[in-house]
Amino acid sequence: MSDDLFLKIISREIPADIVFENDDVLAFRDVNPQAPLHVLIIPKIHIRTINDMQQQDAELFGKLFFAAREIALEQGIAKDGYRVVMNCNAAAGQTVFHVHLHLLGGRKFDWPPG
Ligand code: AMP
Repeated sequence: MSDDLFLKIISREIPADIVFENDDVLAFRDVNPQAPLHVLIIPKIHIRTINDMQQQDAELFGKLFFAAREIALEQGIAKDGYRVVMNCNAAAGQTVFHVHLHLLGGRKFDWPPG
C-alpha cells in the first residue's frame, strides 16, 4: 500500500489537476491523456483491483460512476457521449494498482477497443 501512487495524490504528497472531490471519491486529469478529456476517478480507500472488491464496496464503486456522470455533465461531454473504462490486472493493461475509472471524452471511440 505504501507504494500506492494514487494514495499520495489523495494526501497531496504528489500534485494532480483535480477536477472533482467529495468524501469518498477524488478525480483528476490523467498525465498521459488519451482523449481531449481524460480523467481518473478513484476511491479514497486503497483497493488494488476489481478482484479485490468486497460486497461492502459495491456502493463505493457506484459512486465512481456517479462522479463520472457529474464530471461529464460539468465538462460538457455528456450529450455527445463518453467512455468509462476500468482495467483489471496485466492483460487489461492495469499499471496503477489502486482501482480507477477512466473517463474519456471529446472524441469518437472505436469498438472493440484495442
Ligand atoms: P491503468 O493503465 O488503467 O492502470 O491506468 C493508469 C493511468 O494512470 C494511466 O493512464 C497513466 O497515464 C495515469 N497516471 C499515472 N501516474 C499519474 C499521475 N501521477 N497523475 C495522473 N495520472 C497518472
